[in-house]
Amino acid sequence: MLDFMTSAHQSFSSVKEGANASYIPFLASVPSDLFGIAIAFTNGEVLEVGDTKYEFAIESISKVFTLARVLEELGKEEFKAKIGSNATGEPFNSVIALELHKEHPYNPFDNAGAIATVSLLNAKSSDDRWNQIISTYNLFAGRELAVNNEVYQSESDTNAHNRGISWLLKNSGNMYTDPDQACDVYTRQCSVAITCRDLAIMGGTIANGGINPVTKKQVVSQENIQPILAEMMMNGLYENTGNWLYSTGLPGKSGVGGGILAVVPGKCALAVFAPPLDIHGNSVKGQKVGAFLSEKLGWSLFNK
Ligand code: GLU
Repeated sequence: MLDFMTSAHQSFSSVKEGANASYIPFLASVPSDLFGIAIAFTNGEVLEVGDTKYEFAIESISKVFTLARVLEELGKEEFKAKIGSNATGEPFNSVIALELHKEHPYNPFDNAGAIATVSLLNAKSSDDRWNQIISTYNLFAGRELAVNNEVYQSESDTNAHNRGISWLLKNSGNMYTDPDQACDVYTRQCSVAITCRDLAIMGGTIANGGINPVTKKQVVSQENIQPILAEMMMNGLYENTGNWLYSTGLPGKSGVGGGILAVVPGKCALAVFAPPLDIHGNSVKGQKVGAFLSEKLGWSLFNK
């Protein structure tokens, strides 16, 4: 296994395609050649190659773990009715769903649905909402995570579009708290710093039926694993999800911080960190590593 990981790292470290996200100034300053690969198995073993200890911004991968928390609170039927589980086929920050489909946003991974998902948490205050989210992430990672304040500042200074989305959600009846509060907590969740190892363990918890493979704590109930993986399968890499599925056969989730997570249910989770992104906002090297390892290790869910 480690041999395949090392060989993927060697083969793809020279890839020059893609560029760091630039619309969030901090992300543009992260060294582009950082490259880490980690795999967490359901038995608690974690294998790592490359820059797996470097802390990067979780960004949109956070949406998976907030989804888990809200599913636990609402149940999957209410969640599906309020947010939905279909792709828009549009960029991650598109507002088209709110124009075309006023009943609810399409899914929890486009920004509109993600901000609405944050707003669904039953919370007494902004701090309460935030504490529910970060404590969930901590359980997934098996350690205390924290916001990178530089990322948070950089995103807060440039998130006018997301604030606009929050108010459009309010206008269409899909905002369940104060829109500015929901957007601020969403911005904080995107700014949480994780390592590639953390991400593998967080995904490993999903692969392991909701039980963190390292701490052995149940973080999300087994019945919510299917809706989480369905959402990842359907829209985890935005408009490039079809191509990702074509080459990996696995549910995945990307973030503009350069992280990608793939879940092999019952077996393991793969986390890759490499900042240069394709035009849709997905790590270029991360996608290559996912395709390579899935093929070598027979991970595809469609080849059973
Ligand atoms: N914080 C980013 C945004 O809302 C996350 C986007 C992403 O990772 O795809 O624009």
